[in-house]
Amino acid sequence: MIARVQPLTRTRAVRGPFDYRLGPGQEVEVGSLLKVPFGARSSLGVVVELAERSELAPERLAEPEAVLGTGVGADLVRLAGWMAREYCSTPARALALMLAPGAAAGTGAKTALVAELTPAGRDALSAADGVRLTARQRELLDALAGAGPTVAAQLGTEGLRRLEARGLVLLDRRARPRRPARHAVGAASAIAPELTGEQTAALAELQSAMGDPAVRQGHPGFLLQGVTGSGKTEVYLGAVAAALAAGRTAIVLVPEIALTPQVLWRFQARFGDVVAVLHSALSVGERHDEWMRLRRGEARVCVGPRSAVFAPLDDIGLIVVDEEHESSYKHEGDPRYDARTVARERARQHDAVLVVGSATPRPESVVGMTRLRLAQRVDRRPLPAVEVLDMRDRHQPLHPETRMALADLRRAGGKAILLLNRRGWSNFLSCRACGRVWLCPNCEVALVLHRTGSFVACHHCGHREGVPHRCPACASVSVARHGAGTERIEHELREALGEDGFPIFRLDADSATLPARAKTLQRFEAAPAGILVGTQMVAKGHDFPDVSLGVVLDADQTLRFPDFRAEERTFALITQLAGRTGRGALGSRVLVQTLAPDARSIAFAVHHDSDGFIADELTRRQALSYPPYASLIRVVCSAEEEPLARETAASIHAELTGLDAAVLGPAPLFRLRGRSRSQLVVKAVDRQPAIDAVGRAVDQVAPGAARRGAAVSVDVDPQ
Ligand code: ADP
Ligand code: ZN
Ligand code: ZN
Repeated sequence: MIARVQPLTRTRAVRGPFDYRLGPGQEVEVGSLLKVPFGARSSLGVVVELAERSELAPERLAEPEAVLGTGVGADLVRLAGWMAREYCSTPARALALMLAPGAAAGTGAKTALVAELTPAGRDALSAADGVRLTARQRELLDALAGAGPTVAAQLGTEGLRRLEARGLVLLDRRARPRRPARHAVGAASAIAPELTGEQTAALAELQSAMGDPAVRQGHPGFLLQGVTGSGKTEVYLGAVAAALAAGRTAIVLVPEIALTPQVLWRFQARFGDVVAVLHSALSVGERHDEWMRLRRGEARVCVGPRSAVFAPLDDIGLIVVDEEHESSYKHEGDPRYDARTVARERARQHDAVLVVGSATPRPESVVGMTRLRLAQRVDRRPLPAVEVLDMRDRHQPLHPETRMALADLRRAGGKAILLLNRRGWSNFLSCRACGRVWLCPNCEVALVLHRTGSFVACHHCGHREGVPHRCPACASVSVARHGAGTERIEHELREALGEDGFPIFRLDADSATLPARAKTLQRFEAAPAGILVGTQMVAKGHDFPDVSLGVVLDADQTLRFPDFRAEERTFALITQLAGRTGRGALGSRVLVQTLAPDARSIAFAVHHDSDGFIADELTRRQALSYPPYASLIRVVCSAEEEPLARETAASIHAELTGLDAAVLGPAPLFRLRGRSRSQLVVKAVDRQPAIDAVGRAVDQVAPGAARRGAAVSVDVDPQ
């Protein structure tokens, strides 16, 4: 028997699969994980095909060195092949994303020496007479009595061995107990509420698709559009219940579990142990074990962020993508996959129903999918009034109206969320005498002042240096600080509103680790009054029922990016914040500070007019041939020297002549991490031929360019 194996190397030049002859007793299937001799070394590899014979003579074929634990299903092997093509990547890189967590690093099913109290040990603790114990031994037994089975190394294996010899302790090598802690599920209920008319209608559509293969055939999937609080999650729960009842499984993708655990809790409360969770805040071991529960079929619903789209489930009946407008569904490493697109392909392969949901859906989804609507909030509360505050000619970061609203809020003891999409203290520093701006030495971007840490930092490469006090160009000591970031706003709010009984929390990428951020959110939720200041993180899916004021500072900041999605982002940001405001007792209000009060996206957001915005946006995109009317493919070439980056991009461009698509560039991008960059953008109405042509062009040019020190990366559907 011959196994065709894809070695898991990062190199683009290595294109498998390669044939290996299976040795006696080596049982493999498509998807099995092997260790194979590869060149002078050995490599992990995944079986992508089995064959009776090879084109190569048997004596030229090597045998796999070992068959390793659990591989992936044949469906994921197929999906990896599709991804490699769709994202101009390689099957090996796609497969590497799908393996059991830790499998590639060899940290799979970990066992450890686990200590447990025997009944005799328990007796010894309670009736001390007759059993002589040192203080240390008593301590050990106490610890075991309190904690249950414990990894021996944590308590000291030596001492435990002596207790084992006396029959007081059992030592046993076994799988580490590593289930992720189940949270107290709080108000989440195990019982579905009676659905509203709109929810019932939406769920009925999904159920009929789930029940009828003819409906699913070629179906583009459903878009569930409804404001925050309109009951979308309840519809997902109903659809998952239907998938389980039909004996099938389900995947639920969410943007970021650590910051928005409520959704997970609701699934756990409703379905219990059949829910597995995969996310980055878990240890590799925990993720491995959750992954195995899915693989073995013990768990049949997977909730997780974008990588959960690869959950090892069989017979998937439903895939849900919650908050589908979120940019975190796009993966930034190669392959630069979009979990929403992969979800569609996986749903197609499994004959599953795809549902994506949002209050601010992407124009792509509105055009391509069957729309279901939830027009009203479940509690029937109206959306908050949104007011625009013109910041032109103002020199303070907070508008007087905002200050007043915050002071009122403090007096009334309410809660507010302030959103400013810029971290740090001030966004750039310049010399008052000669105008010099402090730039990152590695990237062509301004350094941002972080006052609490007294340093300036590059938000692209992480470079840090001390706060400058003197201009290196003209020796002036007068350094101006421009603009305000979250750090400065937090400081100003503290100064203005004091702290006692009115806490001010900050949430951004600077505010410590993910768990620490989750804790900040919990503290804000628990506080009866206070303010949460932060970057767009604060508008992501958290559901605080008692926030009565939302403020967006510098709302047009996103508009200043040269990006065709700028309007969409700005609209989503304001609308999402509005959706999270005003379900409390103190009425509700959203203030939008901006330098561009007339921007379309802001005007539509003021009127909560999603449909108007989308219609307008679609007209504009059609005129400019942007998605969904064309696909974009971005090719970025980088090198230490600018000419090499540009030449590489030009060579790829040359390979694309004859392609029926607009190829823009090479255009210079700002230097990043010490490398010059040059970019091509392909705009194609005919998606697949363009992807294939770019893939071929890159394969032509990249290996030679790599030898000269240039790197090429391809981004299909860039964000
Ligand atoms: P969304 O996902 O659109 O933000 P949710 O499903 O979270 O909306 O619903 C908002 C709130 O209303 C939640 O607290 C939820 O438990 C509750 N809810 C949803 N549907 C119903 C219903 N039919 N009856 C009563 N409460 C509901
Ligand atoms: Zn100067
Ligand atoms: Zn930098």
